[in-house]
Amino acid sequence: NKITIAIDGFSSTGKSTVAKQLAKHLGYIYVDTGAMYRAVTYYAMQHNFISASHFDIEGLVSELHKIEISFVFNEEVGFAEVYLNAENVEKQIRTLEVSGFVSQIATIPEVRYQLVKQQQKMGENKGVVMDGRDIGTVVFPYAELKIFMTASAETRAQRRYDELIKRGDEVSFKDVLHNVQERDYIDSNRKDSPLVKASDAIEIDNSNLSLEEQFDKILQLVNN
Ligand code: C5P
Repeated sequence: NKITIAIDGFSSTGKSTVAKQLAKHLGYIYVDTGAMYRAVTYYAMQHNFISASHFDIEGLVSELHKIEISFVFNEEVGFAEVYLNAENVEKQIRTLEVSGFVSQIATIPEVRYQLVKQQQKMGENKGVVMDGRDIGTVVFPYAELKIFMTASAETRAQRRYDELIKRGDEVSFKDVLHNVQERDYIDSNRKDSPLVKASDAIEIDNSNLSLEEQFDKILQLVNN
């Protein structure tokens, strides 16, 4: 019997890495909901609705109907990549610049409403591993398994920093740490669906866990 697995937690806790692995192992669909908020952010940046000096919420909301986000499985990389209006934006949405604006975009109720609706549709047949901030609380409050991942901000920033450097992005550890802390703050304090642990979620602090240990731990929970 297929179930719904919700994986929530702060930025860069390694949710997506373990979620992808789990989905592959179980033959489930994997949905990276952060990628959806990032794709909307990328659109907002390209169409000048957000920059360092201005944030035109109304303008963006009036164009939400023009934003189509989809996932297309890529055999080569082994997971579904995110598309914005038929353009593969998997790479573009991972920059520190997008990370710098995404939490602001994610405070807009209309954005959340649309993306949540789409996420619920993607998971309606169960057999899904979805990672984000509000999956166990808002998207699938009845998920059979809810995981809440945590790790210290420094550990998380180090992971994100290593990732960005590996991609060839020129970033400083200080800026990455600042971004992680800022997103933690905005995500936890927004009015609409703030990031909180669902009361029935199982918390896993992975500061000192290898990927394999995390995977085994979650798989054990799936099998119970
Ligand atoms: O998971 P990721 O770090 O890619 O998410 C980027 C941002 O998108 C988060 O910092 C958060 O502001 C927002 N987000 C959200 N709800 C989700 C997933 C992501 O608000 N379910």
